[in-house]
Amino acid sequence: MQDEKIEEIFRCPYCLAKEVDISLLFDEAKGEYYCVRCCFVGTKQEVFEACDRLIPHPKSGH
Ligand SMILES: [Zn+2]
Repeated sequence: MQDEKIEEIFRCPYCLAKEVDISLLFDEAKGEYYCVRCCFVGTKQEVFEACDRLIPHPKSGH
């Protein structure tokens, strides 16, 4: 029996901040996500944190 585990797909926060839609790849050996376009490398937690910091929330406004 195979336990098929599908990794979640995340967008690169750095590229997304520049309006470039790139999916992060998962490095199983390191357990980290990385971007093929820029030099972003990070754990899932770091991806979330970077998203929070770099991508403006639509709610914020005047
Ligand atoms: Zn990137």
